[in-house]
Amino acid sequence: MKPFAYARAATVEEAAELYAAHPGARYLGGGTNLMDLMKLGVEEPATLVDVSRLPLDTVDELPDGSVRIGATVRNSDLAAHPTVRDRYSVLSQALLSGASGQLRNAATTGGNLLQRTRCPYFQDTGKPCNKRAPGSGCGARDGVHRDHAVLGHSPGCIATNPSDMAVALAALDAGVELFGADGPRTVPAAEFHRLPGDRPEQDTEIRPGELVTGVVLPSASAGLPSLYRKARDRASYAFALASVAVVLSVEDGVVRHAGVAFGGLAHRPWRARHAEQALLGAAPTTAAFERAVDLELAAAEPLRDNAYKVRLARGLAVDVLERLAPPGSS
Ligand code: SF4
Repeated sequence: MKPFAYARAATVEEAAELYAAHPGARYLGGGTNLMDLMKLGVEEPATLVDVSRLPLDTVDELPDGSVRIGATVRNSDLAAHPTVRDRYSVLSQALLSGASGQLRNAATTGGNLLQRTRCPYFQDTGKPCNKRAPGSGCGARDGVHRDHAVLGHSPGCIATNPSDMAVALAALDAGVELFGADGPRTVPAAEFHRLPGDRPEQDTEIRPGELVTGVVLPSASAGLPSLYRKARDRASYAFALASVAVVLSVEDGVVRHAGVAFGGLAHRPWRARHAEQALLGAAPTTAAFERAVDLELAAAEPLRDNAYKVRLARGLAVDVLERLAPPGSS
């Protein structure tokens, strides 16, 4: 591993100052992804600004009924938090489907959002990869891409976002709180990650030096029926081939609220806006669910070896919708 300097920040403001004062710095949270990438030579920060002990380690209910999660709350603590389990169960389910218990004990909320793709070409410095080395090409496009994107990819990159948590946050209409040189701002979780376009090296909308300080779960999603389902190659400690998070409410025989997001299909959690629009006002029938999901997945552009993902995602989404609103029960 390349030598690096280390500095620990005591406050959010100090973290931003340390970052600005050290060219080539990176923020260090739980380190579960960053340290791996440093050992592989993919990341070579000159300085690590340790933000893991900032006073952002609480889950707080706010006066307006929303819930604020600090960026340094550990994934295991967040998954087990009573408020999250009771009112935003899809988030707890998504967290528990990711990684191992040991990793969840170390990984932070902010770090989970900022983890990088597990595309094997990205992790191998001997291979071409536009995300790691812009302009070098995409080894996966004509190579091994069974796990790669079917939605929203570009000629330059077909990687997927690996976070389960972020998929649940997108379906919940959460917001991501940031702090940088221009002060604080909040970005919708569904828009925090970006599609690759011609800048695949840029995973998110975060600006240079900005720090994730928290996540806000809106009161409007609290307590609604929700479910996360994930298909993967083995039962634990594996990334999603496809996953879906759904927040759904049915009143008077029709769908009144629908938040749907897919994981494992794109460079970011894929908020299924077309499916949501089709569901709103519809009676909860299998035909309506299939129609809504098909509308969304019509945009899929599978590659040579991953067309199976479209069928897999369709089956997952229809199954989850049926579980949340069993046809004929309303
Ligand atoms: Fe790199 Fe993206 Fe291509 Fe993977 S898919 S090799 S991350 S450019």
